[in-house]
Amino acid sequence: MLGLMQDWPLTVDRILDHAASRHGGREIVSRSVEGPVVRTTYAELHARAKQVSHGLRELGIARGDRVATLAWNGGRHMEAWYGVMGIGAVCHTLNPRLHPDQLCWIIQNAGDRVILADIGFAPMLLAALASHPTPVERVILLSDEVHRPPEAGRRVLMYEDWIAGRPTSDAAGAPAWGRFGEETACGLCYTSGTTGDPKGVLYSHRSNFLHTLLVLQADVMGLSAADVILPIVPMFHANAWGVAFAAPAVGAKLVMPGQRLDGASVHELLETEGVTFSAAVPTVWQGLLQHLDATGEKLSTLRRVVIGGSACSEVLLRRFWEDYGVEVRHAWGMTETSPVGTMSTPGAETAALPFDQQLPWRVKQGRPPLGIELKLADEDGARLAEDGATAGRLMVRGPTVARGYFARDGEVLDAEGFFDTGDIATLDAHGVVQVTDRAKDVIKSGGEWISSIEIENIVTGHPAVAVAAVVGVAHPKWDERPLLLVQLKPGQVAEPVAMQDYLSGKIAKWWMPDDVVFLDEIPLGATGKVDKKGLRAKFAERYAAAELSQAG
Ligand code: AMP
Repeated sequence: MLGLMQDWPLTVDRILDHAASRHGGREIVSRSVEGPVVRTTYAELHARAKQVSHGLRELGIARGDRVATLAWNGGRHMEAWYGVMGIGAVCHTLNPRLHPDQLCWIIQNAGDRVILADIGFAPMLLAALASHPTPVERVILLSDEVHRPPEAGRRVLMYEDWIAGRPTSDAAGAPAWGRFGEETACGLCYTSGTTGDPKGVLYSHRSNFLHTLLVLQADVMGLSAADVILPIVPMFHANAWGVAFAAPAVGAKLVMPGQRLDGASVHELLETEGVTFSAAVPTVWQGLLQHLDATGEKLSTLRRVVIGGSACSEVLLRRFWEDYGVEVRHAWGMTETSPVGTMSTPGAETAALPFDQQLPWRVKQGRPPLGIELKLADEDGARLAEDGATAGRLMVRGPTVARGYFARDGEVLDAEGFFDTGDIATLDAHGVVQVTDRAKDVIKSGGEWISSIEIENIVTGHPAVAVAAVVGVAHPKWDERPLLLVQLKPGQVAEPVAMQDYLSGKIAKWWMPDDVVFLDEIPLGATGKVDKKGLRAKFAERYAAAELSQAG
């Protein structure tokens, strides 16, 4: 027997419909690529997204066609995104930090017919498209005729002029949104591709809609109409972790930072717009705290930040809370999980403890919300104990988790339907996850694992350290030994032995990095995470002579 409830497909166009009709006057503030801060509302954004849909229809874009964006977080990017998704086309968010060759490979693999791009990317994009075969028929630059860059030929359209005068509502003749099944593809996002070719994660309307509800749970992001949200995490990094859907879903004010993500620029937006909630990778927050240390400025409205994408250190959690009264929620997830998988929101018992005693718990990646199932498995796929101590492969299952990759054959789920995250973690009886490493970053020394994340977490607590990374380097005797790479805060000096002294007594002796190297800048990958692959390659020979010197 079937239930007698209404058939109301879970499609994301309904999110913007709701925002426009119930929170129509709520603002979206963007730091534009052209320079000035631009203000719009959900009602205007809805109307302009309809114009985008109309323009795309005229270009022959139909359901299932891929339309790419290459843009920072901004109001026009949101319009393009909803305009594409509303008509059942697939919005493919390209990551502008990738090398042009890799971008073109992804554009080719995705079959993108149209690209909407920020003007700042025009020289790179147009040059790349001219020298690579791609399916791209049209480039639309997200600005107006006045800002047309010299390299943009006549076939390149300027967004404002392209949408101008088009119908802003169905009544006036804009294409109706929705009217397709909730399983219809909606968004496409390629994973960082640190091993092999990048892989496309193809979100459905249903998965994005359910992920929105998941994100809105009080123990996840817990957003509300009263919030002012600054998504620093880019829309091209797994839908800005869901915020690009969740903010309009509740009618929160949105503040879009554009491309300036340094501490001073972020702080300016936080204060001038009265931001209450934000989300970004740890390196962005380190930049903000350094700015605050240097200027003595405060955070007067910010209440909560979500930190994820790579492990959040204890010092970040502590400093935000003790110095600024801001709660950090440490999140784990991945492009394949839409992306939220776990969140470190304390339960009743932990919340009742003094903050210091909460810290060891809060620094973990947290527990899964409703909609996410987890298990731990060994190399052969057998279940491992959920005892908070046994480390194994973290496996995940749920309606917001990928079951395959775009245009790529091959089974990615195990017999029970779980997706292998490639992360090594422990899991306790309450489902609390602690990630020890990415499987490929694990350091194997003398047959045992050393957690790079744990060492990095401690070193980041040293007052002179800005960023720390620990990588495994081939060692003639021990297979691999840890190497500690450190970027000091501006103006700080330190000796390698000071780092080892700082670690001494805080980790097992055999975990101690054999060497410490100071770098002017620790390289970051396309999603703002430390580029460990590059560091491993650069220092691959560091311990090659170790045995010789020991023998000598
Ligand atoms: P991406 O798909 O680019 O978002 O990368 C996902 C990967 O980032 C995960 O599989 C983890 O290896 C890593 N990651 C994300 N969040 C965390 C976290 N809180 N702690 C440690 N690693 C994380």
